[in-house]
Amino acid sequence: MTLAHNLGFPRIGRDRELKKAQEAFWKGDLDEDGLRAIGKQLRASHWQVQKEAGIDLLPVGDFAWYDQVLTHSLTFGVIPERFRKDNAKPTLQTLFAMARGAVGHDSCCGGAHAQEMTKWFDTNYHYLVPEFTADQRFELSWNQLFEEVDEALALGHRVKPVVIGPLTYLWLGKIKGADSEDKSFDKLDLLEHLLPLYGEIFQRLAAQGVEWVQIDEPILVLDLPQEWKNAFERAYNLLQKEPLKKLIATYFGGLEDSLGLAAGLPVDGLHIDLVRAPEQYPTILDRLPSYKVLSLGLVNGRNVWRCDLEKALEVVRHAHEHLGDRLWLAPSCSLLHSPVDLDREDQLDAELKSWLAFAVQKCAEVATLARAVNQPDSTEVAAALAESRAVQASRDASTRIHKPQVQARLAAIRPADSQRHAPFAERIARQRAGLNLPAFPTTTIGSFPQTPAIRLARQSFRQGKLSQAEYTEAMHSEIRHAVRLQEQLGLDVLVHGEAERNDMVEYFAEQLDGYAFTRFGWVQSYGSRCVKPAVIYGDLSRPRAMTVDWISYAQGLTNKVMKGMLTGPVTMLMWSFPRDDISREEQARQLALAIRDEVVDLEAAGIKVIQIDEAAFREGLPLRRSGWQHYLDWATEAFRLTASGVRDETQIHTHMCYSEFNDVIESIAAMDADVITIETSRSDMELLEAFEQFAYPNEIGPGVYDIHSPRVPSQAQIVELLRKAAQRIPAERLWVNPDCGLKTRAWPETEAALVNMVAAARELRGA
Ligand code: GLN
Ligand code: ZN
Repeated sequence: MTLAHNLGFPRIGRDRELKKAQEAFWKGDLDEDGLRAIGKQLRASHWQVQKEAGIDLLPVGDFAWYDQVLTHSLTFGVIPERFRKDNAKPTLQTLFAMARGAVGHDSCCGGAHAQEMTKWFDTNYHYLVPEFTADQRFELSWNQLFEEVDEALALGHRVKPVVIGPLTYLWLGKIKGADSEDKSFDKLDLLEHLLPLYGEIFQRLAAQGVEWVQIDEPILVLDLPQEWKNAFERAYNLLQKEPLKKLIATYFGGLEDSLGLAAGLPVDGLHIDLVRAPEQYPTILDRLPSYKVLSLGLVNGRNVWRCDLEKALEVVRHAHEHLGDRLWLAPSCSLLHSPVDLDREDQLDAELKSWLAFAVQKCAEVATLARAVNQPDSTEVAAALAESRAVQASRDASTRIHKPQVQARLAAIRPADSQRHAPFAERIARQRAGLNLPAFPTTTIGSFPQTPAIRLARQSFRQGKLSQAEYTEAMHSEIRHAVRLQEQLGLDVLVHGEAERNDMVEYFAEQLDGYAFTRFGWVQSYGSRCVKPAVIYGDLSRPRAMTVDWISYAQGLTNKVMKGMLTGPVTMLMWSFPRDDISREEQARQLALAIRDEVVDLEAAGIKVIQIDEAAFREGLPLRRSGWQHYLDWATEAFRLTASGVRDETQIHTHMCYSEFNDVIESIAAMDADVITIETSRSDMELLEAFEQFAYPNEIGPGVYDIHSPRVPSQAQIVELLRKAAQRIPAERLWVNPDCGLKTRAWPETEAALVNMVAAARELRGA
């Protein structure tokens, strides 16, 4: 029997029940028993839907109160000192304190700051970074996994616990505190202390009656240093003597140079991602020892599209001939990264809906593929295949997807279209003449505080409670307020404040052809936070101007320069569910042309400065270095195509809100924006080190204060940061601005901070 299994199911619930329960618990509106009861219900219903969909072996351990990496830290007793009180056993309060920080009077760990959070591989999920010390010891400190296994067994399920493997867990963590300075110490040294815990866990699971355990080692798809590869052999040789059949799961990429290593580890099975890396299949088949199970991930766990079952079945049939019962099937990765249940969507048109599959439907697809080889004569399988074929045919032929005008435009792109007319030196001279800005020009990143009144107005308009005219007036009034204030503050380049925007991607996606929106397509981003990415389903174009009216209105209120504000093609793509039938690169180019039209229209409307935000530029970098250059080339090209339709006199800004620039600085320069604003204040201008090796040629606004905190920076602090910046970047090319947009802030601190910022710029001008 070819087994259908799942690597993990979304935990948030189809109506985000977990999010609501967590937030109620944090507010004190729900007690711990209430929260636990909701978690239990969700787990039970998730196992049930997976089983009903046809999954034979159900994951346990994919549930988490906040984050699965954090659960592991508690399990292993990796609990930083600041969250320990009298060495008491960790509680749910400890867990949430580690995730969110604790306020002063908190009984468990008053005043302790939260652990750092960072992106889980190349997904939009964020995990809590384990904190190690050089003398880190590990101790089984949290029984959640065992309890959940019992819970599932009591419900009569056949289960497979899921744990993060020891190497991946260590890789994700950081040495903190004083120990991080000690370069002789390597976190890999902790492995020998950690492994006995895995032994203990496997023994307990075996005693509970578990047969298989899934050990996630996604770092096997990264460029791994040789010591880490060696450590894999050592670790799994040691774990070999422990009970349970072990399935190592890899995902998000191909094994490449670690393929032989992964195939040869002394475990009972290997899962590979054939959505991201289909090319690894024949080699794995060749190299896999004849005792091992091979689990194939053919259903995409990262996207919302229905699987092309016929195509997947070709591989499944081939693998089945070679492996027989040693073939297992699963989604490519945990379904944590896809929305929960397509059936919940009540407002998608039938055709579009027929093209999609969320987690529940993906489980059914995996089960269908398994049945296709287990019961080749099944009429249900035949029906599912026929339906899948019909879906593919309808997508291939759909005029909603394939737009001749868009394709004609793409085909007509010439190299000159991605090139400003004159080089930067000439452009900037013309821009300076036209803009007439002082030295150290001041500006902001685009958004101003999104007050409850603004959100209410947007909501009322959506619900039809405000007329178009009333809504426009409400937004105009916000714009007037923002413009008046910026004039009073003495800012040089003004913004309209983005009051009309719910989200920097969704706002534009809603106005482009080729995007669709779900009502319940939420995916966990971190903790209780979920995102609902828009879905790119067809060729993209801009039917009409998107921002020109708002920006022109704002410009009409002032004699100062008003900056137009757009989201760039790479960010639009990265924060959407992309199509799976054409490349990301091609979608970025379509977006580029659509946004380019807006840039040109803004210029025609008299806007002299246009900012194209690329907040997600860096996060698109492939996991492996070998993929970087290709990505950087097309991403840079897409930005340039967006920005290059204007005259030299028009100044193009871009914005990126993070500071890891060192390895991509040349591509950032190649984007050739006239001005870039970036985050720097949190790292104390550390970022500027990147500019020591590389002379960034254009103008730059290193963020002078952290917008994530309500703290108001002093004039002196800002001056000091700018003096630091001026050591690396010629003063005549420096701008003065905050780290990022101000929409999450309140007005009082925003005003106070901007007063100091403008004063700091004036001090530097010597005025
Ligand atoms: N213009 C956007 C804003 O100011 C930029 C947001 C971002 O970079 N994340 O909100
Ligand atoms: Zn930003």
